[in-house]
Amino acid sequence: MNVLIINCGSSSLKYQLINMTNEQVLAKGLGERIGIEGSVLTHQPEGKDKVVIQKPMKDHKVALEILLGMLVDEEHGVIDSMDEISAVGHRVVHAGEKFASSVLITDEVMNALKECIDLAPLHNPPNIMGVEACQEILPNVPMVGVFDTAFHQSMPEEAYIYPIPYEYYDKYKVRKYGFHGTSHKFVSQRAAEILDKPIETLKIITCHLGNGASIAAIKDGKSIETSMGFTPLEGLAMGTRSGDIDPAIVTFLMEKEGMTSQEVNDILNKKSGVLGISGVSSDFRDIEGAAEEGNKRAQLALDVFNYRVRTTIGAYAAAMGGVDVIVFTAGLGENSASNRQEICKGLEFFGAEIDEEKNNIRGKEAIVSQENSKVKIMVIPTNEELMIARDTKRIVGLE
Ligand code: AMP
Repeated sequence: MNVLIINCGSSSLKYQLINMTNEQVLAKGLGERIGIEGSVLTHQPEGKDKVVIQKPMKDHKVALEILLGMLVDEEHGVIDSMDEISAVGHRVVHAGEKFASSVLITDEVMNALKECIDLAPLHNPPNIMGVEACQEILPNVPMVGVFDTAFHQSMPEEAYIYPIPYEYYDKYKVRKYGFHGTSHKFVSQRAAEILDKPIETLKIITCHLGNGASIAAIKDGKSIETSMGFTPLEGLAMGTRSGDIDPAIVTFLMEKEGMTSQEVNDILNKKSGVLGISGVSSDFRDIEGAAEEGNKRAQLALDVFNYRVRTTIGAYAAAMGGVDVIVFTAGLGENSASNRQEICKGLEFFGAEIDEEKNNIRGKEAIVSQENSKVKIMVIPTNEELMIARDTKRIVGLE
């Protein structure tokens, strides 16, 4: 049986069709510039040539029709008919406090997600549009919602309540939610599998380091703390996001530079992080390149990034009363040996000793700590689509 995974952004649509008998990807692709001029859909069927379709796509429904057409296309397709799609799994960013796990999408669930639009005004509307478009085109296929926030709903109150007047939590649900939950869940489960230990016996710190970056503390298989917060702006320094700063900087800049709240918001989300410090790029490859050529601000950006990851790992070990495993994942975590090396420098005091030679790998599963390191350090490529597909299969009860 095949599960279609859909991830809609405001003008994009990512998809994968996965055969859940063997968990093989049959086809994947990306629709871009949806709703604007120059729409394009790139479709990659497994074992066949890539196809690029340039056609106007006025909304996600049109993009979906094109991609479904591609899946059953005689030349570029991978299935004979739409009946071979048993279920659809949708990535949805924010489920607020409403869902602590993936759910079958019903009218009630849709209403609950619409109530969360205030909490994720950029992400939830396109996610919801994607579900509605799918429901129109595939009315008899069960749909499952898999939420970025759900895995972190197990955080205790002391971790998610901000020290601001409690009435804002009561009134607006202002609290820490955390994101990248599907990725943290996937790599923590995979770490336990690789180590052949029940996840309930492990204290795991997962470092999802990509353009967006977050860390989670996972005890007994449950997230008890994570670095992103009310929005994905909190926590680590990121490609373009500031992460934690003194909140007084916001009002200071508004006064000094005469900025509006939207302008400061833009600076903190789009012009800060390693881009803001280095002035070079938000892409770690460019920054590493510039640092190697002697660009001091590029080196400083890397130092700030690594320092914050290291101190967060330290804090999370304290939150769990110890740590057995540190996992690196996502673009940078999977690929940059030098960043992993720098982050782990100084963690030897609690028994996390990285092995320079073993660490010299990219993009594959590996244990990169020294043989006798008390804390295992691992690299595990994330696979959010597979996690969504597995949840979808389980919830729909496909066998
Ligand atoms: P993601 O958001 O998970 O796709 O990760 C994107 C980030 O990973 C970008 O900043 C890339 O520069 C970084 N990245 C990908 N490959 C490498 C690499 N080989 N070395 C350093 N950074 C990398």
